[in-house]
Amino acid sequence: MPLAASPLPAGLELIAAIRQGVTAAEALLDDARRAVAERVSVGGRPIAAAFDREQHATHGLAWLATYVEAIRQLAAYAQRLVEADALGETEDLLVRIGIGEYLAQILGGIAMSQGEIARLSDLGLSPAAVAARVPSAVEHLIANGNTALRRARLAELMRQGRDITVGACGLDETLDIIREEMRRFADDQIAPHAQQWHLRNAYIPLDVIAQMADLGVFSLTIPEEFGGMGLGKESMCVVSEELSRGYIGVGSLGTRSEIAAELILGSGTLEQKRKWLPKIASGEVLPTAVFTEPDTGSDLAALKTRAVRHGDTYKIYGNKTWITHPVRADLMTLLVRTNQAESGYRGLSMLLAEKPRGSDAEPFPVAGLSGTEIEVLGYRGMKEYEIAFDGFAVKAENLLGGVEGLGFKQLMATFESARIQTAARAVGVAQAALEQGLGYATTRRQFGKPIADFPRVADKLAMMAVEIMMARQLTYHAARQKDSGRRCDLEAGMAKLLAARVAWAAADNCVQIHGGNGFALEFPASRLLCDARILNIFEGAAEIQAQVIARRLLDGTN
Ligand SMILES: Cc1cc2nc3c(=O)[nH]c(=O)nc-3n(C[C@H](O)[C@H](O)[C@H](O)COP(=O)(O)OP(=O)(O)OC[C@H]3O[C@@H](n4cnc5c(N)ncnc54)[C@H](O)[C@@H]3O)c2cc1C
Repeated sequence: MPLAASPLPAGLELIAAIRQGVTAAEALLDDARRAVAERVSVGGRPIAAAFDREQHATHGLAWLATYVEAIRQLAAYAQRLVEADALGETEDLLVRIGIGEYLAQILGGIAMSQGEIARLSDLGLSPAAVAARVPSAVEHLIANGNTALRRARLAELMRQGRDITVGACGLDETLDIIREEMRRFADDQIAPHAQQWHLRNAYIPLDVIAQMADLGVFSLTIPEEFGGMGLGKESMCVVSEELSRGYIGVGSLGTRSEIAAELILGSGTLEQKRKWLPKIASGEVLPTAVFTEPDTGSDLAALKTRAVRHGDTYKIYGNKTWITHPVRADLMTLLVRTNQAESGYRGLSMLLAEKPRGSDAEPFPVAGLSGTEIEVLGYRGMKEYEIAFDGFAVKAENLLGGVEGLGFKQLMATFESARIQTAARAVGVAQAALEQGLGYATTRRQFGKPIADFPRVADKLAMMAVEIMMARQLTYHAARQKDSGRRCDLEAGMAKLLAARVAWAAADNCVQIHGGNGFALEFPASRLLCDARILNIFEGAAEIQAQVIARRLLDGTN
């Protein structure tokens, strides 16, 4: 179905048109920021109680800023493709539909969750103030962006296309080669087994982990001097995305190594770097992140697990929960309270706690450590445990950085990378859902034709592709910011916030496209739904992510 009648221009004119959309969105964000700041400030300074009271507005502002950044990054992506003479019809459609749709949602209301819609009026903008920021060119962009015709054409191209990724990702050749290699590995060694690993609640086999280590998955971003490959965070995104496309559990194995390596690189002593980083890079040491407690999740600074120093040893007492992959891990990055007199974040320290590997039969073969498995809906393959510490010993030399009281700050510094990686995992899960949905929609026939011929089915597929590309570009942007050495908690938070929602929407739509079969354990669609759900909860729940973004926007802190 040709789009010759489209009133929107192509190529460079497209760039000029979408730039007006970006400008309008930025202006609305500035207005909203000022209006919300007034509501949460006393004497010109935002105050915490008002932040909590006005969460719908402050978190709505965070979502608005996330949408504006997503539009900006999609426009930048289009610009790069145009400059490289690589903007094809698919990419053109992705950009026009994405920018048109997100602008329309900015004006009409943004879904922060299924039942919570943030509207510009909630942020204090009057209809007249909004209208003043939306010139007719932007109205035109919206009216002609996400049209039925464009969605149908995109879905048609997707059905004809041979590329798994819908549209060029816009990365350089090296990253494309890395993607191809990881995709082959995921298609050969992971995807064919993922459903069974999930259904049997089985561990990802150690030989798969060994192959990942051989491929350099754990060494990507560790500097060469410590045995790594010294690549940038974009490579970590590409690898995480492709592995998670195969199975989220496999894509997530790298998260713990990423957190541990970032902690040690950023805050460890030279000896700690020399001791641990080469082993993490080679996959010889598998780390696990041990932070959450039964009564302390989002508010980590309040955690209670104690570390009591006896000579050159810390003895640990307390309970941790929701710890992923602790049994087979060799190293725990363990956040504990070393100063009992200090109840806030200043009393916390990070330990690099060594432990022997366990098994299902004997999960924790060491004195002072025991645990119980938590059965979960999805995100399997590594197993989650509640863990009890009762005098478990950690050498004092394994205090990260050698100084007590810095643990919380050290951990916060790693959240940028961890959230970028989680955003990439979400993109991978969403991509898997798109592929399952597309495959099913083209083979399943109802009323005498493939269900993909029906617009309500095709529209879902088209919108999945559009939002996946938007989340992907936002994630790459955060990764580039990180690589440039700039603070990027804002960008990382936005990427994680949006990508987690995109993954959940894609998985939900994938199930819907499958009809009853989507509800059957036998079909990967049902697993993807369970796997996608976690992405909005861990590494900072969506509400916490919005809170962090809002704080940065309103007072520059978090
Ligand atoms: C499968 C899985 C794997 C995990 N792996 C690990 C791991 O390896 N290591 C580890 O340390 N932890 C891990 N976690 C824990 C995870 O990080 C926490 O579940 C998460 O931080 C949320 O904490 P919580 O579950 O205690 O929820 P709570 O903090 O109790 O939050 C419950 C709800 O209240 C909302 N809420 C809380 N505070 C606010 C606020 N101020 N404003 C608005 N809303 C608020 C939250 O957003 C959430 O929706 C894992 C969790 C799961 C489910």
